[in-house]
Amino acid sequence: MKIALTGNPNSGKTTMFNALTGKLEHVGNWAGVTVEKKVAKLKGNLKENKSEEVMIVDLPGAYSMSPFTSEESITSDFVKQENPDVIINVVDASNLNRSLFFTTQLLELGVPVVVALNKTDMVKKSGLTIDIPRLKNLLNCQVVETSALKETGLKQLATTAIKYGKKNNGQVAPKIMDDNFEIVTKKDAEKADKLRFNFVNEITKKVEYRKIKSNKVTAGDELDRVVAHKWLGIPIFGLILWAVFYISQSWVGPWLAGYVEEGMGMLTDAVASALEGAGTNDFLTALIVEGIIGGVGAVLGFLPLIMVLFFLLSLLEDCGYMARVAIVMDRFFKKIGLSGKSIIPMVVGYGCAIPGVMATRTIKSEKQRRMTAMLTPFVPCGAKAPIIGLFVAVFFPNAAYMAPITYFVAIALIILVGMLAQKITKAEAEVNYFMIELPEYRLPSFKRAILSMFDRAKGFIIKAGTIILVCNAAVFILQSFDFGLNLLAEENVSSSMLAVMAKPIAFLFIPLGFGIWQFAAAAVTGFIAKENVVATLAVCFALFGDNAETLLETPGNDNVLILVGGLTAVSALSYMFFNLFTPPCFAAIGAMNSEMGSKKWLWAAIGMQFGVGYIIALLVNQIGSIIVYGELAEGFVASIIILIATVVLLTTLIKKNKDEGVTGINQSRQQKEIA
Ligand code: GDP
Repeated sequence: MKIALTGNPNSGKTTMFNALTGKLEHVGNWAGVTVEKKVAKLKGNLKENKSEEVMIVDLPGAYSMSPFTSEESITSDFVKQENPDVIINVVDASNLNRSLFFTTQLLELGVPVVVALNKTDMVKKSGLTIDIPRLKNLLNCQVVETSALKETGLKQLATTAIKYGKKNNGQVAPKIMDDNFEIVTKKDAEKADKLRFNFVNEITKKVEYRKIKSNKVTAGDELDRVVAHKWLGIPIFGLILWAVFYISQSWVGPWLAGYVEEGMGMLTDAVASALEGAGTNDFLTALIVEGIIGGVGAVLGFLPLIMVLFFLLSLLEDCGYMARVAIVMDRFFKKIGLSGKSIIPMVVGYGCAIPGVMATRTIKSEKQRRMTAMLTPFVPCGAKAPIIGLFVAVFFPNAAYMAPITYFVAIALIILVGMLAQKITKAEAEVNYFMIELPEYRLPSFKRAILSMFDRAKGFIIKAGTIILVCNAAVFILQSFDFGLNLLAEENVSSSMLAVMAKPIAFLFIPLGFGIWQFAAAAVTGFIAKENVVATLAVCFALFGDNAETLLETPGNDNVLILVGGLTAVSALSYMFFNLFTPPCFAAIGAMNSEMGSKKWLWAAIGMQFGVGYIIALLVNQIGSIIVYGELAEGFVASIIILIATVVLLTTLIKKNKDEGVTGINQSRQQKEIA
């Protein structure tokens, strides 16, 4: 038997899936976390007949099934193609109105539907009663009260689903539209949506009773008045971010990192003496010790910082705070024509841009979806955390506010670039039915935070042991030989293959303050995986003896000059921004490609990301140099030319689209007249 589990984002579908199958998938206090389908067996103790095999398939969250959103088509395609015996529709009882919209669509598919009226524990506490027999009647399908969180009602749910899966009771969907109503155009779809909304509204009115129609303000509401306040919300978010970074990057993280470094040091010594004892040749020893262990170790040194960071962020997400941040930011996003839903991918993106970009699937409007996929990678992901960690620790050891500032720069960039992109693509703000629901505040779960932390750590270690290890070995080899394959002495490293290849790129970075081939090479390997930036720097500078240690020692290092090979605090900041805000790693670009579904958009997005990263770095270096050191940086004239060229290019693009926009409107007017 195959049971499909569906429901709106945040209805508790993942929690339900875990409760029904005993699996441990990530539960986000957040909409849009489930993007790919998952399959597992129903737990034995929830079945009456133990020998029967019952599969549960978790589908992506969906708001409705109209074919205008890719994720929703995944749900409807699945239901249509795979033909499950029965569908369990997880419905958020605290948000009945919105959830039932999807239910009415499911009912029309002709597959038996059992509604799991979820979160009833929460609803009961809030004084809301739902008339279940009446709801059953109006929808003409089975309804079972559940709490996925408290694991109540699950056995009844499973039994009911299995029963109706076996014996299709010829369930008839409520009649919402005329039989001959056909959806051809987007207009029809909108009309259908409206009818459905009215129908669902009627049902909700009939089945919901509020015992005490109270205007009582809860403690949570009080807190929201401050935390989600229009203006106060932003500095509060800043303060909280600062605390998170202070703890993870300057306090607990580095303290733990000390142990990792000690361990790596011991490992390096042990391997080095073992290789020496075995009479391994010098190059191979250096490759293993400096190239592989040194590079991977440099990245692993940041593991504790990242674990602590994600532990704290997971607590913040779990207690419901992140949703408030979304509300605060929503105002700005609306201004740049993005949907409220655009925040979700960005919040998911602080972990990793790949699921972040994938989460854009929940956005209905194609333009908004593409814009969001383009802007999401600006959020510094976990892999960029070592870059921030390294540069802040080395160049701004006493400025704990620098790390949170990078996140604010990211937000500012998203808004600015979004505004520009809106002008260029003439995206109109579209009306969305979407509203962000605020989950109630609750005590965060340490178990979940620890799980999320180890999950992150596992991914990080696997990446360090595979992609990053291979890249380091390659970088080391490319740096040790010239194109005639002669092994180079340390002082000749600048004629190595790596140097020869990186120098022309480095030339382009002169106006940005880091026209040094090692930094160029590290930026390039960063496109394979952003962790590579730190690892490659470690390998490149390892050839200069003591520098490797300087690089490995992250927190509070005074010994800045040796590491930097020519960077100043200003150009270091410029380099950091360049790596954070140019295109993400290849894997994330792949995700952008599949979500955008248009090569033109993809290339435009990559070009835009390069442009943004380059210009930001340029501005930081040139302006910073004047303000901090009172002198013009190298490449000043070139910078002015580049800036003028950029402004000209942008105005041309905006103007071109304005003209096209006018004809576009005229055309649609004409079409209307014809109609
Ligand atoms: P999904 O987006 O539908 O997969 O939803 P999740 O399973 O990620 O759950 C969203 C949020 O609702 C999480 O914070 C869950 O802990 C919470 N949640 C899920 N089921 C219940 C429930 O039955 N009662 C309560 N109070 N909260 C629940």
